Amino acid sequence: MTHPMPSSSPVSSDAVNALNESERRRIEAKSALFAPPTPVTEDGRRELVGLSREELAEVLTEIGEKPFRAKQLWHWIYHQGVTDFSLMSTIAKPLQAKLEKHFIVGRPSLTTQQTSRDDTRKFLFRFRDGQEAETVYIPDRREDRGAVCISSQVGCTLSCTFCHTGTQKLVRNLGAAEIVGQFMAARDSYGEWPSPKGDTPRLLSTIVLMGMGEPLYNYENVAKAMKIIMDGEGIALSRRRITLSTSGVVPMMDRCGDELGINLAISLHAVRNDLRDQLVPLNRKYPIEELMAACHRYPAASNSRRITFEYIMIRDVNDSDAEARELVRLIRGLPAKVNLIPFNPWPGSDFRPSTRERLASFAQIVMDAGYAAPIRMPRGKDILAACGQLKTQSERKRQAESRNTGA
Ligand code: SF4
Repeated sequence: MTHPMPSSSPVSSDAVNALNESERRRIEAKSALFAPPTPVTEDGRRELVGLSREELAEVLTEIGEKPFRAKQLWHWIYHQGVTDFSLMSTIAKPLQAKLEKHFIVGRPSLTTQQTSRDDTRKFLFRFRDGQEAETVYIPDRREDRGAVCISSQVGCTLSCTFCHTGTQKLVRNLGAAEIVGQFMAARDSYGEWPSPKGDTPRLLSTIVLMGMGEPLYNYENVAKAMKIIMDGEGIALSRRRITLSTSGVVPMMDRCGDELGINLAISLHAVRNDLRDQLVPLNRKYPIEELMAACHRYPAASNSRRITFEYIMIRDVNDSDAEARELVRLIRGLPAKVNLIPFNPWPGSDFRPSTRERLASFAQIVMDAGYAAPIRMPRGKDILAACGQLKTQSERKRQAESRNTGA
């Protein structure tokens, strides 16, 4: 079924931009309070991963090299995936040694890696300051490809009541190097270098920004990282293969759409403001009507690229037929798809997953309205019961170790 495009938005885009501008500045100022540390090693060498092309040219100029070297390095770092300067064979030995003296091409270090019976692979990465974040590779069940789920923050400010990560307070934003680094380290794990070109199939074929954190509360770093990943002379992943999931940071959605044009997923989870205020407390700031208006304005949606609405199915909380019908009403006019995700229980939460019958009935109502509504069963259940758990386990282990050593 094709979905009719929305009629004109009730508020002009100029007016919306003006309204959102001050709110955007407030969000960016708050984000700066949680800035990541400068990516420099203990011996003072600068991390090159995460620099834009212009910044790369600048740091090369600072050590007396010509800016054109940036193109060469970019190719080795992002196309070939090489981390050792001495293997960059088109660069003369003396320059290799000089680069080695001043710079590093790093990766986050791997704390834990687990592969599930269904081949989902979860990584816990540690960054230079000891902070950790999770990355997950979810292979497609039918084809040789899959999605890499990337974290954007350590912890999260938003405290969505169904979310295990939300119980871990925000520690800091991840830097561009740490965000790109998660994807590169996941590709190291599968040996997917050099970056496949054009239509050549990729094993790690899509990115979903759905890991720990709210990516639109760390927009600058996320945007920089995505621009690096999309650059055609490096990793070259198409914007159509990247999806950013937000709880609904409305003022930043417009900016993300205009600047990055990547796909959008909305953590919706409720169709009434009173319930969404509880499940996704950010809704008190940006209620459902504002969120849906921002979805209609999203540029990729006007190109008929579907917006994904994520809906955690919680027994007797948000899973009635009436709510399914209201969901259909809300998304009408948008190219949309609904992912139904049975709640995945974790210790300390009173919620339970919807029954199979409820899931089926809810999905049928959405599908009858012409929208795809796949039921997403949790992957990698045997290695991790809920998102955020690898990090929690690692923290517990460290706390136990420091108790034992009396630290
Ligand atoms: S669902 Fe996302 S935004 Fe909400 S608490 Fe969890 S990680 Fe944060």
